[in-house]
Amino acid sequence: MQSIRGTKDILPLEISSWHALEQIIRLLTSQYGYQEIRTPIMEYAEVFKRSVGEETDIVGKEMYTFPDRGGDALTLRPEATASVVRAAIQHNLTAQQQIARLYYVGPFFRYERPQKGRQRQFHQFGCELMGAATPEADVEILTLAHDFMISLGIQSYQLQLNTLATPTVRQQFKSSLVEYFSAFQTELSEESKSRLSTNPLRILDSKNPGDKAISEKAPSLLDMLDNESKDHFDAVLSMLDGLGIPYSINPRLVRGLDYYSHTVFEITSTSLGSQDALGGGGRYDHLFEQFGGKHTPCIGFGFGMERLLIALAAENTPEIQRKADVYIIGFETNESRSAVIQFAHTLRMSSKKNIITDVQNRSLKAQMKEADKLGIEHAIIIGPDEAIAGTCIVKHLKTGMQYTKKRSDLDGLFEV
Ligand code: AMP
Repeated sequence: MQSIRGTKDILPLEISSWHALEQIIRLLTSQYGYQEIRTPIMEYAEVFKRSVGEETDIVGKEMYTFPDRGGDALTLRPEATASVVRAAIQHNLTAQQQIARLYYVGPFFRYERPQKGRQRQFHQFGCELMGAATPEADVEILTLAHDFMISLGIQSYQLQLNTLATPTVRQQFKSSLVEYFSAFQTELSEESKSRLSTNPLRILDSKNPGDKAISEKAPSLLDMLDNESKDHFDAVLSMLDGLGIPYSINPRLVRGLDYYSHTVFEITSTSLGSQDALGGGGRYDHLFEQFGGKHTPCIGFGFGMERLLIALAAENTPEIQRKADVYIIGFETNESRSAVIQFAHTLRMSSKKNIITDVQNRSLKAQMKEADKLGIEHAIIIGPDEAIAGTCIVKHLKTGMQYTKKRSDLDGLFEV
């Protein structure tokens, strides 16, 4: 029996770096006033079809969709925004013009060809700011993403920005792209050729060298912006400048999904190989209406957690290793072993220490060896003599310093 292709077990050896990452996420999001939302891992397939778009790679090729036993078409979520919007409407989270600041952490599913940094089950952390159309809202989200990189200590990251303007301007842009690329029909890759009728914007981010060369001279949306789109984008850029947050403008950045407008962005890292996107996001002002809700402008981002961990490991940022702090050791007699169990219980209740004990009736030597191997700070030895005397020997394993204390006197137990 093996795990499914493209899925991974996260083993105890790796879990401390996940916990450290999650700890930073929880700290940062609470500093910005974001609260966690946990939506189900399955949704009706419609939720994604209607929002992400039928012509996107995600919906067209990558979704795990299946009929359940009652005949409903269900999908394992490939991304979070559609589910969060569905939940926000269902539970009225943005009623009476309220702002909702939400974040999520969890698994997502896409049927893609697995490679480094690309799995079929992967994890994302993301934030959604709902109910504000202002450039200030964009800047809050972008600053949060920037601060996230800084808190993690990822040096190699780049923030790329673009605007997808208003739906009207984007429609005009699509038409001019179709006109431009149609002249190169025979030279375009098969994929881009079919996108000409389905999703012409995506031709701009094709990785095919021939497509790339043709795209070089394609019309740029930045030259077609109306006042509303230009003012919004300029305001975002000038606030970022004021904050000293570095970025570059990438007019070819379109993001794969249908629901974006105005600001879109991606954060890439040179530590990642070919799958170089750590995260991305953008403004989605019309998704609520598409779901039958009230007009509610929003902006958000999602980061891939596996890729964050790859970037962190590549940059040698020290991981926060969480080990047990104390190993309580007993041996030879029943009195000794039961004193260990009782003292471990007392200490767990009265201190914040992580405590482990032997459960294999091993010798003092074997237990000391294991404590060393686990990088434990203090060993507490309650041998047959100490068990009877009501004492214990506290030993600092790095320095070798040790002393005997009464077990009833917990104050200053770990002073060596
Ligand atoms: P997207 O919404 O597609 O831009 O995804 C946001 C982030 O999730 C990406 O920048 C990646 O870091 C991560 N991601 C997306 N798909 C996968 C995948 N199949 N495996 C691992 N990470 C992924």
